[in-house]
Amino acid sequence: MNRVYNFSAGPSMLPLPVLEKAAAELVCYGDTGMSVMEMSHRSPAYEEIIEAAEKGLRALMNIPDNYKVLFMQGGASTQFACVPLNLMKTGKADYILSGQFSTKAYKEAQKYGDAQAVASSKDENFIRIPETTRETFRPDADYVHVCFNNTIYGTKYNYIPDTGDIPLVADMSSCIISEPVDVTKFGVIYAGAQKNMAPAGVTVVIVREDLLGNARPETPAMLDWKLMADNGSMYNTPPCYSIYIAKLVYEWIESIGGLEKMKEMNEKKAKLLYDYLDSQDYYIAPVVPECRSMMNVTFVTGDADLDKKFAAEAGAAGLKNLKGHRSVGGMRASIYNAMPYEGVEALVEFMKKFAKENPKK
Ligand SMILES: *Cc1c(COP(=O)(O)O)cnc(C)c1O
Repeated sequence: MNRVYNFSAGPSMLPLPVLEKAAAELVCYGDTGMSVMEMSHRSPAYEEIIEAAEKGLRALMNIPDNYKVLFMQGGASTQFACVPLNLMKTGKADYILSGQFSTKAYKEAQKYGDAQAVASSKDENFIRIPETTRETFRPDADYVHVCFNNTIYGTKYNYIPDTGDIPLVADMSSCIISEPVDVTKFGVIYAGAQKNMAPAGVTVVIVREDLLGNARPETPAMLDWKLMADNGSMYNTPPCYSIYIAKLVYEWIESIGGLEKMKEMNEKKAKLLYDYLDSQDYYIAPVVPECRSMMNVTFVTGDADLDKKFAAEAGAAGLKNLKGHRSVGGMRASIYNAMPYEGVEALVEFMKKFAKENPKK
């Protein structure tokens, strides 16, 4: 059985060397005589794994010592609640709406306090990142929330918004470890693992220490960042196996040259696809160029039946999961870290062939 090029937005491709290493260690990890899946999370062997995972991520992202790294459960969607529960002191928070996930985060925060949508690109079908300045935000807001890469629409912040002294909270589920970011510019970064880091099950939270300790009294223990931090992400049983795979992914990135190299590879892949899109008029890329995502590339033919045919024929040709999100239609190629350059080359070749074979009426 050949592996396919899997353009799924998440869960998505994992690096082949990681899968092979995990397979080799699946039944017997080191000299423990057992699988990582069977290990006590309190055992010395597992403690080594979770510590190495944290160290690996800290090294890759250059995370300063005054930030905690947490491995939590419940996906990025659970963090939509954790953010207001842990950060709302005055009860005010500002949200930038750049797509579906940021809107969900905003709606969740409204349950807990005065969450306000201070900027939105909804009127333009989220084809761009809304522009903001410091003046956009309420000076007494506890935080500003953004979604850094909009997985569904294929847009991304290609700069860090200026929020002045207000802590910036970013959902980086679909762009974390795709390129270097200056962590010091953020109060909190969180990311579900299943886009670019590991199988579903673990969510990484990177939080500046001085923001801890403000959880509202009703915060469930499992959602309390400080409690998680004080317990080394082991207040209860962590998602052990997903954390183990994340550790292997971090090691794989380090081995190929870290996030600088990752960025170079990702840029090269995205450029190949966007350059092709810009060179022709059969396919339309709706996102404004300065807001294009390097991870999720969206395009349409302009004809819903042709879009459907495209996804089906691409799938049959070994290019899987190119159908756009059910809410927007069209096509979406998710080209995360693990997607090889050859996969994007194959996609562009297929796109050319499809355009030739299916002239528009
Ligand atoms: C996938 C995704 C989510 C939702 O993640 P879950 O882990 O399914 O809760 C949230 N935000 C972004 C940017 C995503 O890509």
